[in-house]
Amino acid sequence: MSSPAGLLRIGLTRLSGRSAVSVKLGAAGVLADAATGERVRTLAPGESLRLAVDYNTGEVVVRGAGYSVRRQTVSLRGGVLQVEGRRYPDTLLCRVAGAGLQLVNQVDVERYLEGVLPGELPAWFGLEAQKALAVCARSYALVQRGKHGDFDLCDRPHCQMYVGLGPGGARALAAVQATRGLALWSGEELVYAFYSADCGGVSTGLEEVPLTDKPPGTKPYLRVVRDRNPAGKDYCAGSPYHYWRVSLTRQALQNRLNKDPETRIGQLQSVEVRRVDASGRVADVVLRGRVAQRDPSTGASSLIPVEKQTTGWALRRAVGSLRLKSTRMRIEAVGSAGYRFIGSGFGHGLGLCQIGADGRAKAGQSFQQILAVYYPNARVAPLSVASQP
Ligand SMILES: [Zn+2]
Ligand SMILES: [Zn+2]
Repeated sequence: MSSPAGLLRIGLTRLSGRSAVSVKLGAAGVLADAATGERVRTLAPGESLRLAVDYNTGEVVVRGAGYSVRRQTVSLRGGVLQVEGRRYPDTLLCRVAGAGLQLVNQVDVERYLEGVLPGELPAWFGLEAQKALAVCARSYALVQRGKHGDFDLCDRPHCQMYVGLGPGGARALAAVQATRGLALWSGEELVYAFYSADCGGVSTGLEEVPLTDKPPGTKPYLRVVRDRNPAGKDYCAGSPYHYWRVSLTRQALQNRLNKDPETRIGQLQSVEVRRVDASGRVADVVLRGRVAQRDPSTGASSLIPVEKQTTGWALRRAVGSLRLKSTRMRIEAVGSAGYRFIGSGFGHGLGLCQIGADGRAKAGQSFQQILAVYYPNARVAPLSVASQP
């Protein structure tokens, strides 16, 4: 099946570094040398193969029933391929990289999305929310094509979760098919369609989020959006982490801060929020502490005060991004004993709010309406050959 948007190469990083993997074909197929295009073998339907590293030569060794071949890079086709418990369509590329195998699924973007939706959304999410995410994920994948050197995108949340075919259920499949070839556009450019789990009630602006894969400057469609319904309730209020609080003793917080060079502060004295962004997220933080310093002339040691300017992101990372689920939080000192973090939402809060999108779908909004809210000034339009990145 060809797509107007073409092929993507998805790194199966969950398998990277293995010394061997098993592959079972779903239909008759072909084993080829991926470097030269040479057709090495015709494969029978249902045939099982073992791909393994030869550490002496750096080649991939392919073992089938009664034969073995070796190449620098191999490609495998044969219906839906079963690879270590997951099912992948189209082509599997395999070579040796670093300490083990590197597996890449070269896949049509539409089939890729069939494996992204179930990785990113629960199956019970509303159909219009799933369609909205299908359009986002298609736009994100195409605008970020080439993000990793050896392949386009990885199969983890770092890019987008991709779990292969099968676990998605009917709704994810219907959402991909109903939006086939549709993407988000800003003028003639594809939209950097970032999204996160729960915006906590307000999404943030591009300039506030230090993601390494973001475009430079600002974008008119990635800015603060209030995610609230006419009755005054957040569309994402159904999220299990819409409101959260975490308490840490001074010692526990100090230990965590001192593990990260960006927040290392010695003996913690205070945490002060210096700036909150327009969405209510902690942007700039001042940490104060004391570190021991030895006087070289006398040999005596004393504690000297230190002050460190850092960001809400660095603070969240140091404490743990699953513990502090977002930077949309308040920080309260609890006497001298410790700190209380009172927050809302989960994730970076840029672009579409996944749980809010489900709330909107259940309130009767269409995927076009949902996308228009989370990406103001962007439009939904088909990919065309002329406008491909
Ligand atoms: Zn990635
Ligand atoms: Zn939200």
